[in-house]
Amino acid sequence: MTQVTEHGGGVWSLKVPIPDNPLGHTLVHLLDTDRGPVLIDTGWDDPESWDTLVEGLATLGTDIKDIHGVVITHHHPDHHGLSGQVREASGAWIAMHPADTQVVRRTREQVPGQWLDYITVKLTKAGAPEEHLAPIRAAREAGRMRTVPGLDSALPDRDITPGELLELPGRRLRAIWTPGHTPGHVCLHLEEQHPANLPGHGRLFSGDHLLPEISPHIGLYEDPEEALVTDPLGDYLDSLERIGRLGVAEVLPAHQYAFTDAAARVRELLEHHEERLAGLRRLLAEPLTPWQLATRMEWNRPWDQIPYGSQNIAVSEAEAHLRRLVKLGHVEAVEGTDPVRYAAVG
Ligand SMILES: [Zn+2]
Ligand SMILES: [Zn+2]
Repeated sequence: MTQVTEHGGGVWSLKVPIPDNPLGHTLVHLLDTDRGPVLIDTGWDDPESWDTLVEGLATLGTDIKDIHGVVITHHHPDHHGLSGQVREASGAWIAMHPADTQVVRRTREQVPGQWLDYITVKLTKAGAPEEHLAPIRAAREAGRMRTVPGLDSALPDRDITPGELLELPGRRLRAIWTPGHTPGHVCLHLEEQHPANLPGHGRLFSGDHLLPEISPHIGLYEDPEEALVTDPLGDYLDSLERIGRLGVAEVLPAHQYAFTDAAARVRELLEHHEERLAGLRRLLAEPLTPWQLATRMEWNRPWDQIPYGSQNIAVSEAEAHLRRLVKLGHVEAVEGTDPVRYAAVG
């Protein structure tokens, strides 16, 4: 049985499982409009997840064929994975922020092995030791091209334009661009009176941007082929402040559970990141490569117990923090080092 929660005012959430993942499930939201039901995110591309979604909708009297549109908070496979299948079954449009559409397009155009080559270059530059790189080289040579999920994820039909209302007859749903977790992440502000009259300005579908107990992963996200240097952590912190100022009555996130007092949660996350950055500055009293920094940073378990793939994600997160510290003028690259080491200034 799909777990379905009614949130009132024509909004429901459905727990769609993410196979073999500690997160457990994605909360897919259903929003009634005058032209038909609309989904906010769709869930992981897996037969069991699909069945759960279809059955959950059926318990609400909604046939998957009747879905009118799909609004995607960001391109990650636990949110966008089933969008193509929903479109096929229903003829629904799919809307996404152009910066994430760009990532989808890039991923679809990848030739086999390109991803492995890309992470090899990235990890080498970050100062990863040869024994860490060896398994990737071996996979490349053996032709085991296991790559990122989302290789054939659906290209959207519509752009989400930040600051504007989506075209949803009978509803006021405004897109708020919240880059950080991905370059085109959006939160969706339902600018309508809370159905239980909770104080505040409507409700927020927050995707992965604002979750009650999880601090979302922030890594580097620029196109590997582009010279553009992004500052994802800076983007994320700015987006958090923007969301905090909305004064929403309730947050409907894409994982865990709905909650109130968004401003308090925003403050908590801002403080968490401030402390983390201060801790990194202390570590960088000694010049370190991004790899060395990642191995010394505090994670939810000791470095040598972190699974291989998660170590790579952790390095990307360390690099995002270094970018931020460099941009703030707290840290500098040490001249003449290769791989580049970073050190605290002053
Ligand atoms: Zn995500
Ligand atoms: Zn997610």
